[in-house]
Amino acid sequence: MRTLLHWEGRFTPADKAASDYVLLPFEVPPGIARLEVRYAFEGQGRPDSLSVIDLGLFDPRGADFLRAEGFRGWSGSARAEAILTPRSATPGYLPGPILPGRWHVILGLYRIAPRGCSCTVTVQGSEEEGTLPHPPPPETRGWMERSDGGEARWWRGDLQSHSHHSDAPGSLEDLVAAARGRGLDFLAVTEHNTVSHFPYLQAWSGPDLLLIPGEEVTTYYGHMNAWGLSRWLDFRCRTAEQLRAVIDAAHAMGALVSINHPKTDGPPWEYPPDLPVDAVEAWQGPWPLRNHESLVFWDRLLQAGRRVTAVGGSDKHQDRPGEGTPFYQVGHPTTWVYAEARTIPAILSAIRSGRVVITADVDAPWIELTAERGDQRWMVGDEAPPGPIRVRCVVREGKGLHLRLLTRLGELAFVPIDRSPFEWVAELDLTAHGYIRAELRGVRHFAEETPDDLPMVAMTNPIYLSR
Ligand SMILES: [Zn+2]
Repeated sequence: MRTLLHWEGRFTPADKAASDYVLLPFEVPPGIARLEVRYAFEGQGRPDSLSVIDLGLFDPRGADFLRAEGFRGWSGSARAEAILTPRSATPGYLPGPILPGRWHVILGLYRIAPRGCSCTVTVQGSEEEGTLPHPPPPETRGWMERSDGGEARWWRGDLQSHSHHSDAPGSLEDLVAAARGRGLDFLAVTEHNTVSHFPYLQAWSGPDLLLIPGEEVTTYYGHMNAWGLSRWLDFRCRTAEQLRAVIDAAHAMGALVSINHPKTDGPPWEYPPDLPVDAVEAWQGPWPLRNHESLVFWDRLLQAGRRVTAVGGSDKHQDRPGEGTPFYQVGHPTTWVYAEARTIPAILSAIRSGRVVITADVDAPWIELTAERGDQRWMVGDEAPPGPIRVRCVVREGKGLHLRLLTRLGELAFVPIDRSPFEWVAELDLTAHGYIRAELRGVRHFAEETPDDLPMVAMTNPIYLSR
């Protein structure tokens, strides 16, 4: 082992104000087969630390914003070391040739204490590959997909999850097994700022479970999921213009993006709400967990005339074996997508179209909202023309719960459900209402509980008035 970089320094709040990220260059000579990066900072590993510094790595192919072909991994503050070899790497980092030339360690100044924070970084290299830091990614031949003859149906899945490829304690293998155990049809694995899980997803996706390659673009001012990526997406944003450029890059590769958990402690969304996102995670993890704030965030966009799809995400951070709680699993909540095939393009297209319903669990009561006029029929995400339409909402297994219909004008109806299946039908003209959506709310225990106080059991996306 020879030392390629030893850096000691101190960051102040002024450094953070100047830039969220610091690049430390180092030279790699030819013939290196193993890199070991280690760092330490004041307060590292303590949950109450006033300073948090994140770690990542770029190789000589480049580290420039949106043109960082050299991305080799990111671990946030979850790990104190990263090891890379041609065949294998610490989860979060990408295996591959240890190219000679100028590399960069990247430090993310997430939080810096008022008195400052000292930090040290060491990089060592060896000509021997040595013990592999992690089992190498399996060989793959493309995503295993199932078309089921092209007949559209509801598929149930989860659009946000994490493993040890970012900051969860449990393995990706266990996360995927948990999704299979819950009977999900699809699972998006959305690791923070990295794509080291993609080759494993491709290998472990199967006829029973579609694994969708995702990245949670985790900026210091808000989190954004990207689903259906083919390569790494830059996350180093501070301004709305930077984030807009990242969204454009995601769309250019056919991916969709979602504002995640826009609520207190989400962490919240500090960018403007008018960025061209496709979806909002209106329901993250078990209700309530302040999800009412995210719901209001989404509803305000609807009222402003935006057509952005509400989705759910458990944000499950996989547990170590034997740990965790049955009250918080992958599939809490479940996002149902009406798609013609269980393929990545079909699922993404249905999300883009708003053909999405969210339920509290994989087997929670079900809600379906449709509208019709003559032989025309519309479902959630569709646009219905002006003039009277017959709106129909059907609830299954919902006895004792409450059905709530909402439009741009507010609450249209709030009715107790006294049988199963339950059907609500009304003649409506969307001209004034703009859209209509449905919520299934829980049992009322106290007379003074308002509809907003009752737990969400299921919710639909709107049927919109055609423009
Ligand atoms: Zn997040």
